[in-house]
Amino acid sequence: MTILDPPSIDISTLTLTDVPLKPSNPGSYARRDLYEERQTPESGVGAFATTKIPSGTRIFCEESIVMLPDEADHVELYNMVKELAGEKRKMYWDLAASTKAGKDVRWIDKLRDSCDEDVSSTFNDLVAAHEQAWSIYETNRFTCKSLDGNTKSLGIFPQSARLNHSCSPNVFHRYNPVINRLTVHALRDIEKGEELFTSYIDICHPTVVRRHILKHWGFRCRCSACDSPDDDEDYRRKRIEDLLAKIKKSETKRLKNESKWTAKEYQRSLGTVIKCIRLLQKEGMEETDTLGVVYTEGVKLAVKVGEEENAVEWAEKVVEIERKCLGEDSKEFVAAGELLEMARGVGAKAAAEGS
Ligand SMILES: [Zn+2]
Repeated sequence: MTILDPPSIDISTLTLTDVPLKPSNPGSYARRDLYEERQTPESGVGAFATTKIPSGTRIFCEESIVMLPDEADHVELYNMVKELAGEKRKMYWDLAASTKAGKDVRWIDKLRDSCDEDVSSTFNDLVAAHEQAWSIYETNRFTCKSLDGNTKSLGIFPQSARLNHSCSPNVFHRYNPVINRLTVHALRDIEKGEELFTSYIDICHPTVVRRHILKHWGFRCRCSACDSPDDDEDYRRKRIEDLLAKIKKSETKRLKNESKWTAKEYQRSLGTVIKCIRLLQKEGMEETDTLGVVYTEGVKLAVKVGEEENAVEWAEKVVEIERKCLGEDSKEFVAAGELLEMARGVGAKAAAEGS
């Protein structure tokens, strides 16, 4: 599964780079006491809960076995896989491969140039091996962003790669650059026997768009959202997608022109945020961190229009959402703590001035 980024709104107004993030070494693990791998009828191997898993539990905290810059090619990947130690190499080749060959063939010339003349009889086999390695890579890689968010790499985390996709996921994954691990947390209580599903894509897209993107992995999603006969649900997701885009656009505009932003403009932006929060809740999507992102923007707007109580209440929600989805060692959790402190500070100041 190539894991695309979930929708995000820039939280750059928070002074994250100044936050002292504690260095830690959490080890690399998959909680095999909580789940087992099983064959599924349609989606290859999947991960199933073997016991009740409480919301917020960290199920995977995994180190990558392969990590490459976004622009790496077949040859660079193959050379890295070749260098893997025995067990890790086996883990790599055991992963599913479901993507088809791409159009870019420049790497074949590069490979030919790097080969000795006497390898020509086995050149086709070598190309096929590179293609297989690449298909595994494309099927299973996760996006890994650096701490400042400016550099993107793609990593293979073989245990987490067993997670299948759902547009109504019950776990949440993200690469955590602070600890250099991919973490996977339970988004809600998961019952014994349930399959663990993450989302490979932005789940706010309407069904027809999700279906198209998911073709990359060669399957048709059978989750409750995709198979729902409820057209309103699809409308709501499209509406959420539009509102998220509107919020992001308005935030960019506001940050560029904060000093001239009028009370009316703050109110209008806040109205969009509130609409989006309501729809996310209605769609049962409060279990993902998208709601945290929207609340964050809501907090920043609420303090500007003097709604300090709302600001504090929403900031508290952001803290809980980031703790649940990403854990206390994530930069998002630290940022949420800062946000809450800011909201409380503004609230206290307003109370002092009012008394
Ligand atoms: Zn689906």
